[in-house]
Amino acid sequence: MGRGQGLAEEGLSGRPQIVVLEPHGFCAGVAAALRKARAFCAAGGAFCLHEIVHNPQVVESLRRSGLKFVDDIDEVPEGGRVLFSAHGASPQTRERARRRGLEVVDATCPFVERVHEAARAFASRGLKVVVAGYRNHAETAGILGEASGAVAVSSAAEAEAFAASLPRGEKIGVVSQTTMDARETERIVAALSERLEVEAQAQVCGATKERQDAVRAFDGDLLVVLGGANSSNTRRLCEVARCRAARVATLGELEALDIAGARRIGVTSGASTPEDFLREAVRVLGDMV
Ligand code: SF4
Repeated sequence: MGRGQGLAEEGLSGRPQIVVLEPHGFCAGVAAALRKARAFCAAGGAFCLHEIVHNPQVVESLRRSGLKFVDDIDEVPEGGRVLFSAHGASPQTRERARRRGLEVVDATCPFVERVHEAARAFASRGLKVVVAGYRNHAETAGILGEASGAVAVSSAAEAEAFAASLPRGEKIGVVSQTTMDARETERIVAALSERLEVEAQAQVCGATKERQDAVRAFDGDLLVVLGGANSSNTRRLCEVARCRAARVATLGELEALDIAGARRIGVTSGASTPEDFLREAVRVLGDMV
C-alpha cells in the first residue's frame, strides 16, 4: 500500500473523525508468502507448518483452498508436501523435513532469513546468541534453533537478569525478532551492554517500524488495531499507542467495541491484515460513530 501522511476520513460535522494510518495493507514479506501459498494450493497444496501468517481471515481463506495447517512437521505424512510459513523454521525442523522426504516450499520472509543468517554468523564465531523476542513465537523459536544455547529475552528487565548470569565483559551477539517493539529492542541491547560486550544486529523490519512510528505519532482518543490475536506485530501496535488502543480481529469484535466519548479514532492494521478487511472495518466504524 501507499505511504504518506495518512489517509484521513473526516467525519460529518460534529461527528467523531476516523483517521486511517499509513502504511496499511500487507507488507512485502506477507504479500510474497501469500503468493507462494496460493501457487502451492494451485499445485495440489497439502500442509502448512504453523499459520502462514497470523491472521484469521487469511488462514481461513487458505483453509478453504485446501491447505491444512499443522504445528509439528511429524504431522505431515512421509513424502508429503509442506509449506513453511513467513515466520521461518529452525534448522532442526528443516532437517526433520528432509529426513521424512518432504517436498518443502519455503515462504520465509527474506527479513527473517537475514536474522537467521546473523544468528548463525554469531554462533560460528563462538558467541552466545541472544534473541530480543518472544520465545513462544514461531519466528523466535526458529531463530533460537540456529545457535546452541541461544536464549530469548523479551524485555529490558529480562535482559538485565540474563546479563547478570554471565561473567562481566563476556562477548555476546544479539539479534531481534522482526516484529518486536523497536524501542524495546533498543532497551534490551542497552541493558545487555551495561554488563556485557555486545555485538548487535538487532533491528525490527522496516514494515514493523513504519507502522509503529505512525502509531506513536497518532494523536487521538482511540486507536483501533486490526489484526489477529496471535499476530506479534499487531500486538506491538497496541502497546506502542499513546492513547487507548483496542485490537480487533473480526467485524463482530469491532461492533462490540465501546467508542463512547472518542472524538478522533485512528485505524491501523498489522502487516498480515487484508486490505478488504480494513476497508470493511472503516465502513462499519463509520456507521458506529
Ligand atoms: S512484518 Fe517484516 S519480517 Fe514479517 S513478513 Fe512483513 S516484512 Fe517480513
